[in-house]
Amino acid sequence: MSIRVSNLRLPVDEPEAELPAHLARTLGIGPSELGRWRIVRKALDLRDKRQLRFVYNFELDLPGDEPAVVARARGGAQVELHEEPPFAMPDPGPAPLPYRPVVIGSGPGGLVCAYFLALHGYRPIVLERGTKVNDRIRDVKTFDGGGAFEPESNYLFGEGGAGTFSDGKLTCRSTGPDVIRVLELFAECKGQQPGKPSILYYHRPHLGSNRLPAVVKAIRQKIEHFGGEVRFHTRAEDLEFDAAGLKGVSTSSGFIPTSVAVLAIGHSARDTYRMLARRGVPMTPKPFQFGVRIEHRQEVVNEVQFGPRHSKYEELLGNADYSLVASGGHDLFTFCMCAGGHIIPSVSQDGYFCSNGMSLSKRDSPFANSGLVVTVPVEAFEGTDVLAGVRLQEKYEAKAFELGGGREYRAPVQRARDFVRGVATTARPECSYPRGVTPTDLRQVLPPLVAEAVKNGLPQMDRRWHGRFLADAVLVGPEARGSSPVRIDRDNDSRESPGVPGLFPVGEGAGYAGGIVSAAVDGLRTARAIVGKYATLK
Ligand code: FAD
Repeated sequence: MSIRVSNLRLPVDEPEAELPAHLARTLGIGPSELGRWRIVRKALDLRDKRQLRFVYNFELDLPGDEPAVVARARGGAQVELHEEPPFAMPDPGPAPLPYRPVVIGSGPGGLVCAYFLALHGYRPIVLERGTKVNDRIRDVKTFDGGGAFEPESNYLFGEGGAGTFSDGKLTCRSTGPDVIRVLELFAECKGQQPGKPSILYYHRPHLGSNRLPAVVKAIRQKIEHFGGEVRFHTRAEDLEFDAAGLKGVSTSSGFIPTSVAVLAIGHSARDTYRMLARRGVPMTPKPFQFGVRIEHRQEVVNEVQFGPRHSKYEELLGNADYSLVASGGHDLFTFCMCAGGHIIPSVSQDGYFCSNGMSLSKRDSPFANSGLVVTVPVEAFEGTDVLAGVRLQEKYEAKAFELGGGREYRAPVQRARDFVRGVATTARPECSYPRGVTPTDLRQVLPPLVAEAVKNGLPQMDRRWHGRFLADAVLVGPEARGSSPVRIDRDNDSRESPGVPGLFPVGEGAGYAGGIVSAAVDGLRTARAIVGKYATLK
């Protein structure tokens, strides 16, 4: 049993060193009576611009009579007894495991699954089509600087998956022991920095693209330490299975016999989706997010969000972020907002262009960008087969590639005001995208229902920002990969593909996660299912 204190509201400049005193006062006890305590959530309340506040939730143990303290507590915060099941993994199951399990993909889903398999003695082999993270950093920098595109080493493929060059926001809608265990693993691999807000409790934990490579590398080293192996430049190209289950994985470096494979391929391995469809692995089309990226000057976002005292809050809190929704036939919403960030080419196939955003840990570029997306329903996929959504993405990404000057990989852009007025932009606007931009009419790279929702939603968002959302904002697009357009089906309990015993679809590409932490938690839970079913290797 422990105590949960929720909604303790304090000014943002209140030092964290004062938190034990506030907690003790809320509970009506002396500070020395406080046992172990931790912040479980810290959120920024922007409603009163004269006095921004943090809203804290805590969990704590008291050496004394906890129910009596809870009954006595008074003040604005909510105080209650709380019980959460501890994090647990099962004992190894009975099914024999003749070969090492294979994990396909080293994104957060695959890496975390492999980590827990290795930790429990299963010695997984991780297959990654791309390169080690250090080589990947070089390839991405070369591409950003105007160099050649590397089809197997880019913003989406390579060690750490899409997570490596992501913005590194470690937000997750769900909570509980599995989420905390994953955040603990990331924190351990990041190395705690005294004085920095901990990713274990901050309201919107953020690592930044410059910190993620070290985390990814540290997880890989742990997998190797516990007997696992990571094979780079090794693409899974086919699966061999019959009604009894999986027999092995054909790769670009030869065949690997196995009866257990985790499919953690992310949402951009379209060649792998096609292989799975050919092989008859059960998959279902699913709605996915499609839209554009919008960019403002960061100072505009700070002024709107922090209000007249923005300079004081910028000093205390850094650059502001935001989140907006506009309702309509299809709601338009902001997604993956990168304060102090850059727009990047989220490209994994030569001949196609897609935008996304990232930021470094300091979040200090003069630009703020955010996805601005609509959930596209399956009925709008222009086809009924399982890969119709993938083809819809490819159709508009190919058009964007052509508009951006082909292999120049310039980003098609349009002023937000021009988009709403329905006129093409002709002069080149300022934009953080590194390879240069082509002013155009972005409706050419958006499905009609997405273009309509952006056109109708932008003025609503502008009203909420009192005319500052549209002024000078630039749109870049398309942002076609907000989530996966297919689900690789799996059984709820066993987490295996219904058609292929031993095949475990995991993470964003399989349609069960959206984001770094949720993909990682999905990987952890699949590792738990594998441990509970199979005996460890002899
Ligand atoms: P992925 O990370 O996509 O990993 C899949 C891996 O599988 C890749 O390494 C790929 O090379 C490999 N692979 C694919 N096919 C094969 C094959 N056939 N054989 C061998 N290997 C294969 N999420 C957040 O939570 N916060 C953010 O701030 C954030 N920002 C983002 C910014 C950008 C630019 C991008 C692109 C994404 C961002 N995301 C963010 C999303 C997040 O990165 C993904 O949700 C997450 O990485 C999904 O994890 P995953 O393991 O399912 O797949």
